[in-house]
This record gives sequence, structure tokens and C-alpha cells, in this order.
Amino acid sequence: LPDNAETIAVALRALAREGFFALPFGHMSARGAGQGSEAVLILRHLHSESFGIEDVTAADIIGIEADGSLPPGRDAPGERYIHTEIYARRPDANCVLHYHSTLTAAFGRAGRALVPQTPLGEVLKPVVPVHDFGGQVNSPARGAALAEALGQAAAITLPAHGAVVVGASVQEVAARALALEDCLAVELAAAQLGAQPVPAQPGTDAHTSAEVNDVLWHHLLRKHSVR
Ligand SMILES: [Zn+2]
Repeated sequence: LPDNAETIAVALRALAREGFFALPFGHMSARGAGQGSEAVLILRHLHSESFGIEDVTAADIIGIEADGSLPPGRDAPGERYIHTEIYARRPDANCVLHYHSTLTAAFGRAGRALVPQTPLGEVLKPVVPVHDFGGQVNSPARGAALAEALGQAAAITLPAHGAVVVGASVQEVAARALALEDCLAVELAAAQLGAQPVPAQPGTDAHTSAEVNDVLWHHLLRKHSVR
């Protein structure tokens, strides 16, 4: 079954409680099951309201067109082109998350690609690249450039801005986001202890990835009593 508005809302509430939106900027989407104005399901634009991502429900997830056009009466984030341009290039991607965190912004700012080393990093292999643009991805051209820089990777960091994480499902994206924060924290601490960069290791064990995705997703929901 394709991910739906309810799944996105559950993931957003849980990720918010986990601290992913400590700064209240970011959004998640899933490829819609419909066409036209339901091609992409995405969190609506919240910034003008006193309403946090920790409170979103399925009613806050709206349908937009595949090119980012907004159906009448619907308002989506200016950075929706991150999502639409990735879906246009990655048939394997059914969910996209964009968020701002200190660690992802810092690795992006430093131009330091992540070579995952932790056990959870299996789901991010072989490498999390860095985009060369840290500004607002608020046009189709900027979205296309980001999607090209992402290539076939699971995630990418944006200089002094944050990260974009993609996956086959909402569950996979949430798990990859948790793994990304974990890997970056370890890499930062290890670098401070003198660890040197290592070459990327190819290949992801599909069985391991499925297990990590499942364990992390249920951990996230259980930890924050979100369902
Ligand atoms: Zn942003």
C-alpha cells in the first residue's frame, strides 16, 4: 500500500518529539496514489500560524501537483520543489523529508560528506554527499540541482541549512533520518578525537536495512507514544 496522509502525520509528530524540528522548519512528503492535484502528499504551509509540527494530523497533509503547482486554496512550503524534483528523478523514492538540524547543517557547511561507520549507518551507504547550495530550494531549477547532487544517495546535506532524506517509504525515511543524526554525532566526536576520514564502502545488505528500518521506526513511535 502507498504511504498516506495518516502515515506522514504520524512520522512528523514522532520526529518532532525526537527533536527534528527544534527549529520549526521542515516538511515531509510521500508520492501520492492519485494524479494531478493529488500527485504528491505534503505537509501544508504552517508558518503563519501558532501551530507546531508536533501537532499535525492527516488533515494538514495536502495534495499538490507533480510539478509543484498548488491546487486552488492549498498552500505548501516554498521548498516543495525539493520533493517534486526528487520524485521526478528517483522512481525508487516514495517519501522525502527535509529538516534543519545543527549536525546536518554543520557537515554541509564544512563540505564534509558522510561515510557511514556505525551499525545503523548501513541504511545510508555508501555515502551522504554535500550539496553546493545552502539557500532556499524554492524553485524548480533549485530543486532539480539538489536532486542531481543527491543522485542515488539516501540523503544529502545542505551547507548551513539541513538535510534531505529519501526512501521507499515513510518508515524508511524516518529510520534513515535517525541513523543520519546518529552517524553524524559519532563522526563529529571521532573527528575531535583525531579519527581520519575513511573511503566509502560499497553495498547495502537489504536484509539488514529492512531490519534497521523496522526497529528504528517502532522505536521512534514507542519512545514518544505516537501512533
Ligand atoms: Zn529548509
